[in-house]
Amino acid sequence: MLRLHPYRYHRPKELGEALELLREHRGDSMPIAGGTDLMPNMKHGLYTPSHLVALKGVEELHVIEERDGELVIGAAETLTRVASDPLIKRRLPGLARAAEGIAHPMIRNIGTIGGNVCLDTRCTYYNQTYFWREALGFCLKKDGDVCYVVKGGSRCVAAHSADTPPMLMTLGATVDLATADGARSVPLTKFFTADGIWNTVREPDELVIRVRVPIPSPRLRTSYQKVRERKSVDFPLLGIALAVEIDDSHLIESISLVVAGLGAKPRVVGGLDKIAGGQRLTPDIIEEVARRAHRQCNPLDNLIVDTDWRHAMVAVYVRRAFEEVLGQPLAAA
Ligand SMILES: Cc1cc2nc3c(=O)[nH]c(=O)nc-3n(C[C@H](O)[C@H](O)[C@H](O)COP(=O)(O)OP(=O)(O)OC[C@H]3O[C@@H](n4cnc5c(N)ncnc54)[C@H](O)[C@@H]3O)c2cc1C
Repeated sequence: MLRLHPYRYHRPKELGEALELLREHRGDSMPIAGGTDLMPNMKHGLYTPSHLVALKGVEELHVIEERDGELVIGAAETLTRVASDPLIKRRLPGLARAAEGIAHPMIRNIGTIGGNVCLDTRCTYYNQTYFWREALGFCLKKDGDVCYVVKGGSRCVAAHSADTPPMLMTLGATVDLATADGARSVPLTKFFTADGIWNTVREPDELVIRVRVPIPSPRLRTSYQKVRERKSVDFPLLGIALAVEIDDSHLIESISLVVAGLGAKPRVVGGLDKIAGGQRLTPDIIEEVARRAHRQCNPLDNLIVDTDWRHAMVAVYVRRAFEEVLGQPLAAA
């Protein structure tokens, strides 16, 4: 049986109270939303905070509304709500589909979008019980100083494994953060770092309050493709988010492609405007984008499947993303 360590569970009702608790116990506390990732991680001895600050009862973190040309989603909104809310489905269908593909209904009913954005990175040598990790001699990310993925490596390369951030990045989302001392906003493309031990710019006592997404043009088409072992329950082995805006003359106005599940930071595939901007979305353009993504993305041996196979899947799933956007009705205005 995997036992939890002793800790105090705080249930603040207001944001200010939650932030104060995190400040007071900085270094020995963590926020908990649905707990669908944090609880298993605590049972594995990956985190042992003495204080958990529960976010579900904080009113300010529950909102889904259109405001000043943006869709605002509170951090404590569940994945089920994100997947099924009529406003999100109408305005950001790609995000709704990405949320719908996470885990299974029970987890989506509890897990939140804030927890998904702040999800810990994952690795074959990290997401294991204490005993498993101890038998190996622990790893760079937790309790040890050796990386088993990159031999001799000094930086943790555990994989970003959350499904909504890649889609949110292609949509130009921003996260609003707050500590007891103040607030700031960070574009999601600048939120993640390449350090697998702590892969965001978020401070330990800082909360994600909400995600804001600019309402896209009705001409924007999106796709989220997820490589996984089974069609439900499993984390992504690769996550590919595509957003393409096609104008009235069927030319590509903008294109954005993000690949996650490689290293600690989702990769924005670069140079696409040069090859696809202003062009018709032909099979040749799709092939060129797929080849470019394949060249720029190098999966590591950090997840359970063969690395070369995962690398080959990058191009395959980019093509599938284009197939989906080509067959898609335009989003409603
Ligand atoms: C069997 C199983 C399958 C899963 N499959 C998937 C999957 O396919 N795709 C996927 O993306 N995820 C998957 N997950 C992981 C998880 O369920 C989701 O990522 C979920 O969205 C996490 O949200 P949560 O509210 O439960 O986060 P929690 O577990 O409560 O928290 C996760 C982390 O985020 C921090 N945190 C939470 N909220 C905030 C906030 N507002 N501000 C700052 N920090 C915060 C916590 O301190 C913790 O570090 C799976 C989990 C399980 C157990």
